[in-house]
Amino acid sequence: MKIGFIGLGNMGRPMAENLAKAGYDVTGFDTQPVETQGVSVATTVTEAVRGQDVVITMLPNGAILQSVAAEVLPELEAGSVFLDCSTVDVASARLVAESAEEHSVLPLDAPVSGGVGGASAGTLTFMVGGSETAFQKAQPLFDVMGQKAVLCGSSGSGQAAKICNNMILGATMIATCEAFALADKLGLDRQSMFDVVSTSSGYSWSMNAYCPASGIGPQSPADNDYKPGFSADLMLKDLTLSQEAAELVDADTPMGARAKELYEQFVNKEDGRGQDFSAMLPRFEKRGRSRTD
Ligand code: NAD
Repeated sequence: MKIGFIGLGNMGRPMAENLAKAGYDVTGFDTQPVETQGVSVATTVTEAVRGQDVVITMLPNGAILQSVAAEVLPELEAGSVFLDCSTVDVASARLVAESAEEHSVLPLDAPVSGGVGGASAGTLTFMVGGSETAFQKAQPLFDVMGQKAVLCGSSGSGQAAKICNNMILGATMIATCEAFALADKLGLDRQSMFDVVSTSSGYSWSMNAYCPASGIGPQSPADNDYKPGFSADLMLKDLTLSQEAAELVDADTPMGARAKELYEQFVNKEDGRGQDFSAMLPRFEKRGRSRTD
């Protein structure tokens, strides 16, 4: 199977390298210069994708995805697969899928969970929208780049699953951080807080697997000065996508909306940019009830 890979950034480069390591013939393209191991880097998109069996994209947003898809799809043979792994808005994912179908290309939207660590280790989780036929064709690639791929339904369902998951994650991380800050002020030590909550009904992935307090629970970005990990900027991106989607379908998502506001403030008005999304804990530590900004 010959693969074209567009977008060799923090996520795309290690994903493409893992495919090359597994023996696939991978040709990549990025608008920025990039050094890779085992992936041939083309000088144009066309050169990277013409005649490939599968083209994978790992791009920043829906507008870029749409413009790349417009260049790529006319170059592909009928029956080839266009596999987008970026996190983008549901509307862009559906538009790109329609356009792929017009070119007799099989579309899949397959955003990932697992971050740069998961991309490097080949342990990503893929949430996939598209047909069973396309999913079967891409399955061997999911097996190399990840540990799990779930076919969630028709085109756009992968993006829908991703933003719903991350809306829960953003809200539970904030809840976990504000609870730690309250526990501090009530004189409860953090280890006791962790021991109770991680085995009680307040448990969650944010507390149990990614504890925002340093020195407690499993290793997490809190133990590395809140270096990401999963950045607050990317959490803001995903929460924004969740609210755009909610707007589109008239869904009432007050917790998601508030989580988006808080990450927006943290990233754009405070010192959150470039920090892990769990750095909400030191943010809450510094605050009292009187501040409403
Ligand atoms: P990144 O900015 O490091 O990589 C994106 C790459 O796309 C860059 O190298 C950029 O030069 C390239 N690019 C932009 N426009 C292009 C074009 N027209 N043609 C070819 N290449 C182009 O971002 P990333 O962290 O690798 O994230 C990629 C996607 O994965 C995003 O949608 C992000 O939301 C999602 N994601 C990221 C993480 C993470 O932890 N980084 C986790 C889950 C999902």
